[in-house]
Amino acid sequence: MTERDDAALFGNRFLTTPAPSERFPEEGMGATDAMRLLDVDLAMEGDPQRNLATFVTTWMEPEAQRIIAENLHRNFIDHAEYPISAEIERRCVRMLADLFNAPGRTTGCRTQGSSEAIMLGGLSLKWKWRERRKAAGLSTDRPNLVFGGDVHVVWEKFCRYFDVEPRIVPLAEGKYTIGPEDVAPRLDERTIGVVAVLGTTFTGHKDDVVGIDELLRDVREKRDLDIPIHVDGASGAFVWPFLYPDSKWDFRLEQVRSINVSGHKYGLVYPGIGWLVFREESDLSMDLVFYENYLGKTDATFTLNFSTGASMVLAQYYNFVRLGRQGYTYVMRMMQENARVLAGNLRDGGRFEVIGDDAEQLPLVAFRLTGEQDYDESDVAWQLSAERGWMVPAYTLPPDAQAVKIMRALVKETLSREQIDRLSEDIADACRTLDAKGATHAVERAQVKHGTGY
Ligand SMILES: *Cc1c(COP(=O)(O)O)cnc(C)c1O
Repeated sequence: MTERDDAALFGNRFLTTPAPSERFPEEGMGATDAMRLLDVDLAMEGDPQRNLATFVTTWMEPEAQRIIAENLHRNFIDHAEYPISAEIERRCVRMLADLFNAPGRTTGCRTQGSSEAIMLGGLSLKWKWRERRKAAGLSTDRPNLVFGGDVHVVWEKFCRYFDVEPRIVPLAEGKYTIGPEDVAPRLDERTIGVVAVLGTTFTGHKDDVVGIDELLRDVREKRDLDIPIHVDGASGAFVWPFLYPDSKWDFRLEQVRSINVSGHKYGLVYPGIGWLVFREESDLSMDLVFYENYLGKTDATFTLNFSTGASMVLAQYYNFVRLGRQGYTYVMRMMQENARVLAGNLRDGGRFEVIGDDAEQLPLVAFRLTGEQDYDESDVAWQLSAERGWMVPAYTLPPDAQAVKIMRALVKETLSREQIDRLSEDIADACRTLDAKGATHAVERAQVKHGTGY
């Protein structure tokens, strides 16, 4: 028998040879070998259960997983072939419009995530502004967009990709969101819109959307400038309606014209699914909608991508009907309750201060070291990960609050009270280790930049 025969008989030759990685493989391998090769590689990754860094869903119940697995072969964009999947997307958009208190008939779409939704929403702001300017016989060059330093990096990306001047409100120590007083001096006739964040990636708070709406209504009346608000609710738009139903941030406010939300964050679906919802049909520029019929039926599309799986749309609908307002409220409250316990434990431990848990906030804990020690939050993050595998990021806040370094733990539905207590203990242990041996490596510190907010 040759070595090859042995491998065929006894399986996994990758125990002794490196995995293909540079060249397109000349030969293939057995299905079992290919599967094991991947399994073994992936086993070296972080454990999603202990990943308290990501906002993205890491667990769905078995029935939802079955829906996803059974529909992986369905291309969402084939509306003519899969009209039911298309209808299910429409249902989700209508339900979200209802959840966000849209006044009447509206429109929207599924996207790959909030990033695609933001690109599309931003484009619509730009196109609508151009329409208004053209109608008034005014120039359409040098558009600008106003937002705070507390936004996700995607907004700067949008501005660069689509040639819009970003007007960014700097943060400051102790000031991690923005309000009307920040926005007012940055507005002019070339402002295509104002972005307000609901649930920032940095501390989980919301910009003062009520105040910004008031300001923009005033500007509309006094200066005849109709400047819309786009709410980036990537995380918050699936949290606020359930935890803070009386707090206004959505279409109850007149200038709020579009909202994005990530289905794969607090919508509780696996990646990638996001949503863009307009206040009214007229808030979407019709110039951005394309009509094509080569899949067998005339179809209107407003997307950056074309082909994509239908599974996550179906999974989103599954969650909507499975949970309803009642179920989402239950899950959000459970996470909030556990986040409060974690915050309490950290405070009681005497080493940390908790940031802003007295305000409306995502179910997370943002915290930083108090007192004097010769290590910082990055060292704690590193030590905690080395000792126990918990992934809790440390990062500096955006300018001009870059002197502030914090840690942030997302409290997801899979993090039970038992684990909260264990995590609290593990954080205290990591600090005790650092007390004894001092700071870890400067290299790790340098790697932890503020871009961990995904
Ligand atoms: C996560 C996030 C985004 C990007 O969303 P994706 O769904 O990951 O594309 C944008 N804005 C905010 C506030 C976010 O939290």
